[in-house]
Parts: sequence; structure tokens; C-alpha cells
Amino acid sequence: MAKVVFDNVRKEFGAYTALNGLNLTINSGEFVALLGPSGCGKTTTLRMLAGLEAPSSGDIRIGENRVNDMAPGERDIAMVFQSYALYPHMTVAENIAYPLKKRGVPKAEHPAKVARIAEMLHLEPMLKRKPRQLSGGQQQRVALGRALVRDPKVFLLDEPLSNLDAKLRGHMRAELIELHRTLGRTMVYVTHDQLEAMTMANRIAIMEGGNLQQFAPPAEVYAKPANRFVASFIGTPGMTLIDGELVSEAGGLAFRAPGLSLGLPALTDKARPGAAAYGIRPEDIHLGEGDLRGRVILVEQTGHENIITLIAGEGHHLIVRVPGTEIYRVGEELPLRIDTRRVHVFETGPNGARL
Ligand code: ATP
Repeated sequence: MAKVVFDNVRKEFGAYTALNGLNLTINSGEFVALLGPSGCGKTTTLRMLAGLEAPSSGDIRIGENRVNDMAPGERDIAMVFQSYALYPHMTVAENIAYPLKKRGVPKAEHPAKVARIAEMLHLEPMLKRKPRQLSGGQQQRVALGRALVRDPKVFLLDEPLSNLDAKLRGHMRAELIELHRTLGRTMVYVTHDQLEAMTMANRIAIMEGGNLQQFAPPAEVYAKPANRFVASFIGTPGMTLIDGELVSEAGGLAFRAPGLSLGLPALTDKARPGAAAYGIRPEDIHLGEGDLRGRVILVEQTGHENIITLIAGEGHHLIVRVPGTEIYRVGEELPLRIDTRRVHVFETGPNGARL
């Protein structure tokens, strides 16, 4: 078991800064997802932890060791990549046992270790097959098995499910959660898929443009996004964000945007009159009641729920989630209510802080 620490880690590729002073402490046994859009620096972070890339400055520690100058093989980590390369001429059992052989684990110990992994990953019926006789999902499980068999201090996973179809991905998500629970090992998981991060991780490190934007449990990232980037990145459909301003009113502040005057939740001490953005989750707008009015411009049916886009005030788009049983028509005018206790207010700008 080992804690992982990034201490002010920078990574530059020539004049380009891929990682801008990362500070991150991953607890021993924790499952952490590094989540962010393409190019945010998550793979670079993982590759530095693996020893495949050297930091430009700063320290990386695994357990008690500063690993900056340690070769990948000395770090006691195992890595699973998106593109897994199994040895085609070896059976599943031989593929899983390969890391044991390479590390000189006595051959007599291999069968028991392989059997344990095969049981955990439901690969028992396939141990004698060659990789080409397996489906993509089964091959991915073998790749996972090969990483698990050594029992390293830390597992590094780089989008390991992205080559699988949606149904299998769901199944493997559940298996990974279970694996983490039974093994209790530190896991660092890179993904651009928020559903994977939200469902599997104990904490999510959300990155953008080489900067850590928030590091918190999934529920907190959703309910208390640290800034406007996190607010708009997390949640499907996304949060409605309205640009406007905070104005002083009798006894406090209110939010105004062209054609709209909206109530506010309790804000932090940083909140002052001036430009601000107002964020509303799609489940926090209620249709058919309330003082506001909106006109339906789009209805998207997903089966169990409908996503309704309305226009309110002077051209503001509102995205609302309703149960699949509630039918609305394009062009319909409706009263609506925003649950103002649950809205989010940010400073302006793409990364404006939560107010
Ligand atoms: P993706 O999801 O697309 O893999 P990512 O968040 O993992 O994205 P990184 O691979 O960490 O992003 O890359 C971060 C930035 O650093 C990108 O802009 C990328 O182009 C750049 N970069 C990565 N590796 C190199 C390299 N070897 N040389 C130059 N630039 C690089």
C-alpha cells in the first residue's frame, strides 16, 4: 500500500507547459480518477508517475520513496493502457503469468496466482485459449489480469475501457469497483469520461489546461463545483450558465440578466456587486409552476427522461430535465420555477471561482 504525492510538479515540452505545478496527494488505498478534456495533461501526469516521462521540476513520491530518478521497473507499479498488447502466441494463462516469470517468481507459485486472478476476472473458462480466440472485452480483462497478478503498490490505468462497447464498459466499471474494494490498492485512473470517474473514484482530480481545477469526491464535484470550468464540465446535460450581474437590493444581493431577475442562495464573502455567472443544474428547474416564463424550443427524449430546452428572459437558454412521462411540445409557453437555494454563482471568465 502506498500514498502518491505530486509536489509542485511541472512538465514542459519545449516552450509548451503541459503541467503547471501540480500538487496532489493520493491516499494509500484510494481510487483517484484524473479527469479532463483532451490535452489537459492527465496522461502526462500518469506517465510521469510511471517513470515514462521525467518532470521538468518538482517531486513525485510513491510511499516513502522519491521516485523522480527511479526507472519504471523499480517503482513497484503496474500499468494498464487503452491499447493493451497481449502476446498472441501465448495462452491466456501464460499471458497473465508473464510478469511473474519476468520478475523471477518461482514457477511453482504461478498456477495459484493465475487461478486467483482468473477467478476474480471470470476468465477461468478461457485460460487455455489464445488472445485471438477472445472478444475485445475478454482481452481487456486479460490485460487487467496481467497487471493485477504482481500485486504492485500502485495501479495506473490509462483509459482502459475506451475500446469497449457501452454495455461492456458498464460491466467492467462494476468489476473495477469490486476489484478495488477487494484489493484495497491505490489506483490512479485516467479518463475523459465523467461517468467512469463519477461512478468509480473515491476522489476526482479535474484538470484543464495543465492546471488542477478541483480535487474532491464525486458528489462534491457535482454539488459544489469550485469554478465555472468544473461546473460546465461535470453533469450531462450540462449546467445552464447565464452571464449577468450581481446587484445590491434591499438587504442583500440579487442576480440580473437581460429580462431576468433571479434569487440567490447564501454566497461567500467574496460576492460583490458586479459581473457574475449564474449556474442551474437541469434538475433544479421545475416546469408548470412559478413566476418565470419560458418557451420550449427543443425536446429530446431519452426514454426514462426528457431534456427540454426553453428560452426565458431576453434569449437565455435553459436546459431542464423532466421524467420521460412528462410531455412538452416545441412552441409551448410555460410557467417555471428555479430552485434558487441550489443554484451556483461564479465570477466571470472561463475559470471564474465559485462565489
Ligand atoms: P488526451 O485525453 O487527448 O490523451 P491528455 O489530457 O492526456 O489528453 P496529455 O497527453 O497529458 O493530455 O498532453 C498534454 C499536452 O501536452 C497536450 O497539449 C499535448 O499535445 C502535449 N504533449 C504531450 N506529450 C508531448 C510530447 N512528447 N511533446 C510535445 N508535446 C506533448
